[in-house]
Amino acid sequence: MKIHADRDRCVGSALCVLTEPAVFDQDDGGLVLVRSEEVSGKVHDAIDLCPSQALRLTSE
Ligand code: SF4
Repeated sequence: MKIHADRDRCVGSALCVLTEPAVFDQDDGGLVLVRSEEVSGKVHDAIDLCPSQALRLTSE
């Protein structure tokens, strides 16, 4: 399983970064960046907390 972030949906709330900073980051515009595609730490919590449903797991 890998993490996919849909930057077109991201609204820059930063909840994912606050929840799991080892995996998520933000660019200068506030949009999500995935630092590591490996599912670890509180990734599932971050996916649940994202207000725009921009985060999901893929089987690739
Ligand atoms: S929690 Fe969702 S909307 Fe907020 S920065 Fe992360 S991906 Fe974007």
